[in-house]
Amino acid sequence: MRVNWRVINAAASSYAPLFASCAEHGFYLRPVDAPAADITCYSLNSVNEPAYREEIAGAGCTTIVGGPHASACPDQVAAYADYVVVGEGEFTLPRLLSHLETGGTGPVPGVVTREWARPIDHTVILDAFPPFSVMKGYIEISRGCPFGCAYCQTPCLFGSTMRHRSIDTIVRYASRYRDIRFVSPNALAYGSDGRSPRLEKVAALLSRLPGNIYFGTFPSEVRPEFISGEALELIASVRASRRIAFGAQSGSDRVLSRIRRGHSVANVIAAVECCRDHDFLPIVDFILGFPFETGEDEQETLEMIRWVTRHGKARVHGFIPLPGTPLGGTVPRPLSRSTLQTLGNLALHGRITGSWDDPAVRFFKAHSDISP
Ligand code: SF4
Repeated sequence: MRVNWRVINAAASSYAPLFASCAEHGFYLRPVDAPAADITCYSLNSVNEPAYREEIAGAGCTTIVGGPHASACPDQVAAYADYVVVGEGEFTLPRLLSHLETGGTGPVPGVVTREWARPIDHTVILDAFPPFSVMKGYIEISRGCPFGCAYCQTPCLFGSTMRHRSIDTIVRYASRYRDIRFVSPNALAYGSDGRSPRLEKVAALLSRLPGNIYFGTFPSEVRPEFISGEALELIASVRASRRIAFGAQSGSDRVLSRIRRGHSVANVIAAVECCRDHDFLPIVDFILGFPFETGEDEQETLEMIRWVTRHGKARVHGFIPLPGTPLGGTVPRPLSRSTLQTLGNLALHGRITGSWDDPAVRFFKAHSDISP
């Protein structure tokens, strides 16, 4: 049975681990630019999904679709795809492929079709699945997030319990790289429950890593309240990048509360100042255009963006109401003309980057650059 993987830039981070887990069961996910026999697998996010709907519906082969959008809207995707994998794919995808190879037609846990749906019956333990094999990728050190930010699909895909890969396994895969990058919803939460840092675990991990380390920056950004002098000194004590990326998301405490961020503006200010005092460059994400944002909130965020760029860099994005999130189905609030002008000026001077005028752009890249 020939199994293909539809190459989509934004799904690159899913390919490496799924290639590895499927190969362990004898299925090699051959990269293709169009659907091909016998089976073609897709991973779609909620912004690029409409671009592939027609292709999948008209494919002359069996189609399997997973990823954030399929997990958020399985029934919608099952209307045009043969099989929809909901949630984590490392166990479910090879299980489904084995089922199909042996002629199975009945329900498979974690899979939805037009005829049947069966709930997921497992949680992926990271050490049980390689982060990559011959198809190399970033090393995922943690998965799951206990924060339920109202705009984020991560808890919907990976759940709210944080799980971690063991240090031995991380070191084994890190030894294959000179520049080592990680995937985590919050790198400084490594080894913890995701809410209270356990820096002794972070220290144990960092002390054993070879090569050049990119920890706390793309794609393993952190949360502002996890940034402390102790944490930055730990990172500085190894051969690591002195950039730290984190999400502020708003300069208004009212908005932070509405989007359930679980931190305050004061946490963001403290994090930026801590970076400055320890000679780290803060790279701070903001989202503008939440439906309940007022003109005053918008101004507070703009002020915060200006202040951040005096000490580091800001990445500014327009809000997208992603399905499956508490803010799914809401309508973004348009930004005022003066805000657009200010953002344009800051961008012209190289002080901010982002996609406030076309928020969908970031979902077509290899990885979403919104920080946790
Ligand atoms: S934005 Fe970050 S902290 Fe918030 S739920 Fe998503 S992954 Fe968790």
